[in-house]
Amino acid sequence: MLLQTTIAGSLPKPGWLAEPKKLWAPWLLEGALLDEGKRDAMRLLLADQETAGIDIVTDGEQTRGHFVTTFIESLKGVDFEHKRTVRIRNRYDADVPVVVGPVGRGKPVFVEDVRFLRGQTKRPIKLSLPGPMTMVDTLYDNHYRSREKLAREFAAILNQEARELERAGADVIQFDEPAFNVYMDEVAAWGIAALEAAAAGLKCKTAVHICYGYGIKANIDWKKTLGSEWRQYESTFPLLARSKIDQVSLECANSHVPLELLALLKGKDVLVGAIDVASDAVEKPEQVAATIRSAMRFVPPEKLYPCTNCGMVPLAREVALGKMKALASGAALVRREIRGERSSGASSI
Ligand code: ZN
Repeated sequence: MLLQTTIAGSLPKPGWLAEPKKLWAPWLLEGALLDEGKRDAMRLLLADQETAGIDIVTDGEQTRGHFVTTFIESLKGVDFEHKRTVRIRNRYDADVPVVVGPVGRGKPVFVEDVRFLRGQTKRPIKLSLPGPMTMVDTLYDNHYRSREKLAREFAAILNQEARELERAGADVIQFDEPAFNVYMDEVAAWGIAALEAAAAGLKCKTAVHICYGYGIKANIDWKKTLGSEWRQYESTFPLLARSKIDQVSLECANSHVPLELLALLKGKDVLVGAIDVASDAVEKPEQVAATIRSAMRFVPPEKLYPCTNCGMVPLAREVALGKMKALASGAALVRREIRGERSSGASSI
């Protein structure tokens, strides 16, 4: 089917699991109840995606508190007790864990989640992992003292996790690399290589999500400094087009990204952000369809997957559900148009 829909990854958590409309909200349950609550939440958010008509579903990231640190917390060689304050993506300060020795993979992190989801749905499943560069950017390194070296170590760990996720039933494994929109020189120097190392040997689809962040104040303020045209993708996309990564997930809805940059991803699947996650206003299906049609000037429909700009975890649940329905309806509108055009084209021959 053309124009299969998916979401960047995260969805709001139920109010009994974590405080709503808050990024990185602490858990409201503990111990065995928390484990059960996370599974119940996965089931609920999976049902929301299916009800909305999303084709490639995710875990809604219901088992993680933070899209990067929940993974880092599982690693050896990282101290979570004595955090240091660092500047994330040159944008905002955060207390982050410290690398104090050689990093290594502890236990599998999301493998059980995928196994659980696989048992709950027949739809293709996508699971997100943080990308190596974004991981490096979310902690303080007191051991390797080289961002590149640490990224390579993380890539090896991510690859172990990704291979197990694939065996557990993941159809798409996505690496989230918002840092790719900030450290352009490092992306070329070692970022793409580290990303490819994280995805090495996978037979399932591999994706990279590169966005301008959640709709939080620090990101909105940063976006104001980027000028009228956001051309960060211009240097990254040619590198990704030559890489082994299958899919690129990016921001399009209400963004200042010149859409002609999508042509730089020739040959790749493009997950087109047709839902603005920085606004509570639920898009009309026709708005979603308009974004998809604009992207189709540069990406053939066979390669286009309508998606959200970024994760929806900070939104209210009903807003996220409304946006997913709009995404699916908008994609269906364009799908019908294409079918109509193709059948009338065929009959005129
Ligand atoms: Zn994002």
